[in-house]
Amino acid sequence: MEDIMLQALQYVQEYKEELIYPAVCKALDALDIAKDMRPDLKIVIKPNLIMAKSPDFPVTTHPLVIKAVARWLNEHGVKDITLAESSGGLYNAEYMKNIYRVCGMRDLEPEVKLNMDFSARTVNCKDGFANHSFHIITPVLDADYVINICKLKTHSMTGYSGGIKNLFGVIPGLEKPQIHYRWPDIENFSRMLLELAQTVSPQLTIIDAIDAMEGNGPTGGTSHPLHLLLAARDFYTQDYFAAGLMGLDPMKIEMIRQAVETGLAIPDTITVVGDAIPEGLTPFQVPDTKRLDFSSFLPGFLRKPFAKAANLLFKSYPQLNKDLCVGCGKCAESCPSHVITIKDKKAVFKRKGCISCFCCQEMCPMKAISVKKAL
Ligand code: SF4
Ligand code: SF4
Repeated sequence: MEDIMLQALQYVQEYKEELIYPAVCKALDALDIAKDMRPDLKIVIKPNLIMAKSPDFPVTTHPLVIKAVARWLNEHGVKDITLAESSGGLYNAEYMKNIYRVCGMRDLEPEVKLNMDFSARTVNCKDGFANHSFHIITPVLDADYVINICKLKTHSMTGYSGGIKNLFGVIPGLEKPQIHYRWPDIENFSRMLLELAQTVSPQLTIIDAIDAMEGNGPTGGTSHPLHLLLAARDFYTQDYFAAGLMGLDPMKIEMIRQAVETGLAIPDTITVVGDAIPEGLTPFQVPDTKRLDFSSFLPGFLRKPFAKAANLLFKSYPQLNKDLCVGCGKCAESCPSHVITIKDKKAVFKRKGCISCFCCQEMCPMKAISVKKAL
């Protein structure tokens, strides 16, 4: 079996260096990653550092997983390793230094350089893409080899977040809300994610699912440990596989459905190497946005016309819990439609113009935003 098709799976009980490093070695050996390595290779690791949150919570990629990968790279002669990410908020030195510190990334130095180049360049997309170009952070464009190390989560807007979704973090800072504004519906946003993923095209993707997130991800959910590390060259099929492990129907996750229909993900090729899939996995809780999505109970052929007709009645909106809001303004900063203001140290939401992207919920550090249906 070609290693391009393999899905490596390793059981890891908890975040301990002595457990994670051997698991990473076995997974990368199974995929024969060593054959790609050269001492002059410039490698970028793209983690998920969506917000400044301690690694004790299942919000960001755990530093011990990155540390184990960096150690493996060092032992294969690679020294030029940079960690590069554009988080959910600003993309500048002050903001990212805080993210690195709080997320435990400082422990990776000096083996891993923490990116401090906050420039970006425009790259053209393939012919036929709806996006003609993307503006992408420079270190990712300058890398010879990209290793995508994401966190497994349910997600309020996309339903699921793994390898494909993690690559949205190559778009610099507050340009991300602009893309949400350009592609507000899930079909177009998912197509954009797939076009971006093909443009970045990481050579290796590792999913940190030792602890994962269920419910109102990507930041407001709760812990659901799977005790697994997943690694693959083919991250499209890997997302199909990982969503299944969470008890989700991958074909109901729009980006995965489109990946299958366009031939990027090939579920028939899934061949698991390493540890066996654990028995008795419990299904992940879905986000409130999906739990309240009545259209998902309809047969496929009715969904589109229904969605159009009932959009106004059944549309989801953010709802504020005033007692939890501290008026920090992170929701307003990330709102692509500029419908949030801060008044008397509390967020105020206008419904008119809201595109239900839930960037505000994603960026709220206080979990003060929940989902409400218009009806
Ligand atoms: S809702 Fe959350 S992000 Fe917005 S101001 Fe309040 S605490 Fe900050
Ligand atoms: S209010 Fe929240 S859900 Fe509505 S457009 Fe702004 S960020 Fe998106």
